[in-house]
Amino acid sequence: MYQALYRKWRPKTFDEVDGQEHITEILKKQVLLGRLSHAYLFTGTRGTGKTTCAKLLARAVNCENPVGGNPCGRCPACVGIENGSILDVTELDAASNNGVENVRLLREEAGFSPVAVKKRVYIIDEVHMLSNSAFNALLKILEEPPEHLIFILATTELHKVPATILSRCQRYSFRRIPPENIIRRLLKVAEAEGIGLTEEAALLLARLADGSFRDALSLLDQCAADVVDRERVLSAIGLAENDEICALMKELLLGDGEAAIARLNALYRSGKEVGSTLNQLAALYRDLLLLKIAPKSGGSLMSGAFADFLLRELGRLADAPRLLAGLNELQEAAQRLARSADRKLAAELCLLKLCASGAGSAAAAEIAAARKPKGETETAARAFEEPGEERAREVPLKAEINTRSQAAGLAGSAADKKSGGSGKVPEWKSVLAALKGRLSDKEFEIICDPQHADVELSQGSIKILALNYYSQGFLSNPQLLAAVKEAASELTGEAVSVKLDLKQ
Ligand SMILES: [Zn+2]
Repeated sequence: MYQALYRKWRPKTFDEVDGQEHITEILKKQVLLGRLSHAYLFTGTRGTGKTTCAKLLARAVNCENPVGGNPCGRCPACVGIENGSILDVTELDAASNNGVENVRLLREEAGFSPVAVKKRVYIIDEVHMLSNSAFNALLKILEEPPEHLIFILATTELHKVPATILSRCQRYSFRRIPPENIIRRLLKVAEAEGIGLTEEAALLLARLADGSFRDALSLLDQCAADVVDRERVLSAIGLAENDEICALMKELLLGDGEAAIARLNALYRSGKEVGSTLNQLAALYRDLLLLKIAPKSGGSLMSGAFADFLLRELGRLADAPRLLAGLNELQEAAQRLARSADRKLAAELCLLKLCASGAGSAAAAEIAAARKPKGETETAARAFEEPGEERAREVPLKAEINTRSQAAGLAGSAADKKSGGSGKVPEWKSVLAALKGRLSDKEFEIICDPQHADVELSQGSIKILALNYYSQGFLSNPQLLAAVKEAASELTGEAVSVKLDLKQ
């Protein structure tokens, strides 16, 4: 039977886990000294090794001959846990077992001593999916855990885990894996599997995987061939349609709204969801922007999904301010799309606005304004906004944009307006400390550099100020903003909103 690469190459010891040494070193020490906790909470984005480490820990604590804190992989306990024949170690996916009944059953079972091994271990994946009553039942066990019991909870959304649970767990934050680690591993796996993976293709896969080993290996699986080069990756993963996205962008930059909407609809009919079209368009805007503002150092941050000659051609049609405005509109559109009853109409409106942001296409702007929906979703969304953003929304409609309104247009990108809670906000230096390793080296350098970035903290929100267009190019990366939001929310235990603005 064919075994997926990411399963086959799942690390068998803590030492093989790449990029999370800050966690594996501590876990090994705990196993060595026998100083274990009753509850662990592993947090971090998908594919960074949470479940892998949970399984390794379950084996290590039960292993008969642990090697320096690593499971040996050969004793009956290691083998039995690995093949699932030892029922004292249970894995649950909270997404499908989220009811109170599941946790009650677990609670009854948890009281019994393990049968085959030393510790009864429950691994609960995506624990934030548990219902409130299930969380309460879980809390009852965590309050007085029997000696033989260990819980390992894993989540991608820490802020959805109740504080009462958090306070009873040892918490470990898994980092996004840097692309260079992913490339190294891809090349190693490919060599062992007899796949001729070129470095260029490995780089593209690593970028597409966005910090996740699992995604990287799954993508390599999809490309399966004797020789995997860049072209093979593009065709296997369906990126050939990126040429379509480039054609769409060209129509937008030339102000041809009719052609752009016709293309969006053609893509839609061929099965492409409008949200994913806009996402790819945003990646293209960002690539072009990087090419403009950081032609040398920006290269490593680009998506790599678009052909160079197309990028060069498109780059001649737009300047940096227009690309920034477009990227901003696309980010806002992504948020509107999530709430919209008619996603296709919302996407069409976005395209019309993007057309209109070019000089001399006032007609398209009028069409966009006339077709603007007055539904209540829009009103509800606006209720969360500050008055100053009203103007920002209209920026793309104006044919001539000055730099100041340009900056206003960027306020609110990636903002989370629905943050509830008591409005706590962590110290910036602790956010920076938590960000280390989650951003690329260049991004981290820029966000820490007072020449490039400043920050304003207010109740429940963080506003990052880009001090120049160069730093804005790096800081406008939605993944960067999401990482800041994640780090800040982890520190306060509740959702913190993060915005980017350009300081004049
Ligand atoms: Zn063992």
